[in-house]
Amino acid sequence: MATLEVKNLHVTVETDQGTKEILKGVDIVINSGEIHAVMGPNGSGKSTLAYSIAGHPKYTVTKGEILLDGEDVLEMSVDEGAKAGLFLAMQYPVEIPGVSVSNFLRTAKTAVTGEAPALRTWIKDVREAMGNLKIDSTFSERNVNEGFSGGEKKRHEILQLELLKPRFAILDETDSGLDVDALKIVSEGVNRAHKDNDLGVLMITHYTRILKYIKPDFVHVFVDGKVAEQGGAELADQLEAEGYDRYVKA
Ligand code: ADP
Ligand code: MG
Repeated sequence: MATLEVKNLHVTVETDQGTKEILKGVDIVINSGEIHAVMGPNGSGKSTLAYSIAGHPKYTVTKGEILLDGEDVLEMSVDEGAKAGLFLAMQYPVEIPGVSVSNFLRTAKTAVTGEAPALRTWIKDVREAMGNLKIDSTFSERNVNEGFSGGEKKRHEILQLELLKPRFAILDETDSGLDVDALKIVSEGVNRAHKDNDLGVLMITHYTRILKYIKPDFVHVFVDGKVAEQGGAELADQLEAEGYDRYVKA
């Protein structure tokens, strides 16, 4: 079993108006096999939390720590973090012109495991994963995310999740912009990775609808750069009914 710990995390970003503190003391502990939902209004710092764990250079950790099985994640480069088992599905996946999906996946897998996957099983694995996610086989030869629809980009993120088999996945609004069918396909992919690999999940979301398909063990309500309340799945139902108003006003 592995543990990802975020302890008293404070993060700033440089803006035109100067240094701005976005995260103001975040505490979250995720064990293998646990699904945590982080829910909160726009601008509360959810993506900043995701980027900070992933080691995005724009975000400066001024206080606190992030540990993966006791190892300092903040000391790791982005690829060291990936090798250690961290995975980030971005809210806005970037286009990579000139790099095909098949090349990208194989290169990523090789980098994460330290050796090129055996071609025959790899091709079979990719085909199966693409089939599960209803991604057409012609996508293999397309450039990563170039001209992909919003839903196709999100499914491509989950394709990586299924093939790279990380220990912890941070999913930043992977549900946003999906229609009901795509939401179901994406959720099934996350549930497969969770079940097959004992994946720990930090699922950032603005809406409760994905929680009908992916059952969280813990829900953290995120407001103004901090966890305002924690609970179980029932907390999501309460948010569904009441929204974030009472936290924002408080
Ligand atoms: P969320 O994902 O919860 O909507 P974000 O983490 O994206 O929130 O943003 C939190 C706050 O920090 C927002 O007010 C946003 O404008 C600000 N912020 C985030 N990243 C940057 C950045 N790179 N430069 C300036 N402001 C930023
Ligand atoms: Mg965001």
